[in-house]
Amino acid sequence: RLWIAMFMNGVIKKKNLDSVHLVESQTCQSSISQSLDFGNLKIEELIGNGRYGSVWKGVLNDQTVAVKIFNCHHKQYFVNERDIYTLPFMDHPSILKFFGAEEKSAHNGSPYIEYHLVLSYAPGGCLQDYLRKQTVSWITLCKMTQSITAGLSHLHSEIQKGDKRKPCIAHRDLSSRNILVKEDKSCIICDFGFSMQIAGSKCFVNGVEQNAETSSLCDVGTLRYMAPEILEGAVNLRDCESSLKQIDVYALGLIIWEVASRCSDLYQGMEVPPYKLPFEHEVGLNPSYEQMQVLVTRHKARPLFPDIWKDTNPAIRSLKETIEDCWDHDAEARLTALCVYERLLELPPLWERYKSGTVSAAVGSHLGAVAQ
Ligand code: ADP
Ligand code: MG
Ligand code: MG
Repeated sequence: RLWIAMFMNGVIKKKNLDSVHLVESQTCQSSISQSLDFGNLKIEELIGNGRYGSVWKGVLNDQTVAVKIFNCHHKQYFVNERDIYTLPFMDHPSILKFFGAEEKSAHNGSPYIEYHLVLSYAPGGCLQDYLRKQTVSWITLCKMTQSITAGLSHLHSEIQKGDKRKPCIAHRDLSSRNILVKEDKSCIICDFGFSMQIAGSKCFVNGVEQNAETSSLCDVGTLRYMAPEILEGAVNLRDCESSLKQIDVYALGLIIWEVASRCSDLYQGMEVPPYKLPFEHEVGLNPSYEQMQVLVTRHKARPLFPDIWKDTNPAIRSLKETIEDCWDHDAEARLTALCVYERLLELPPLWERYKSGTVSAAVGSHLGAVAQ
């Protein structure tokens, strides 16, 4: 069965096309003569190259969209990502919007087919590129980190309403490249190629139950963002739901650190240092598995906080503590995404109170000086 959601007049309608079958990836030959209804889709400009495909900017019925293209050898990632996007309750402000999926003959006229995911276009590009080019204000830091965490918390929750059920989803490849920036600077999570649906003690990829003992449940993701227990091969597989969520929260901690490292309001008027990847300072741009293992698992190293971040400001102190509680070495001690979200909601009022307190203290001491 191929699920497609056709985007019509701004309304997404799901359609179950029993008559259309995807061909087996091994053959890479298309057996489909009809193409699905994306007749008006124009693919225009390459905007991203990932591990298993390319992402293009396109136009569908006058709307700018992103088209993620997988070649036939990477069909499994396409199928997995499409199946995640089409689960119930995936329509969320912090999760990339899915308009539909199709398979097509490759545009160079070869007999091979490729697979397309049609998604909403995020004008800010990925968070990593954004932070490389731009600094952010405290308000933007709060908006970005709250939206990312709200999205992760939604992914992690199981939702049942009527006969519709969204299982818990572990992302398994969270990084600042898999987070996109919207026009209003809030962020959205994308790239569900490695994501896993979890029901109780069972995990599913492409609808196939994974055997925790034998499958490579835990060795996916981006090396730099891998939690110490993955690097060590010591993930607790008896409770794969908690373990996989804790692995996502570890990566979330690194991402919040990345945003904070470019936040101009934290540097008290000093120049904001150029963007660096997590652990770039320690292991450079292309660390090996062993280097990451020694650094993160053996030495328990984490990215450093600049000295200039003022611990006297309770909002900054709370931000640092929250980051540390995300990347705790002990996976079970890490916060849940929901708890991180609740802590981040407290940051703006903490900051305001501190600022008004310091202003009134300054005014008070000034008045005191005048009185003397
Ligand atoms: P991969 O699975 O190959 O990593 P991604 O889905 O992460 O593919 O996309 C690769 C890159 O393309 C992203 O890091 C981002 O820079 C860009 N990109 C992906 N989707 C969009 C989108 N909807 N809008 C804007 N840029 C996007
Ligand atoms: Mg990606
Ligand atoms: Mg991917």
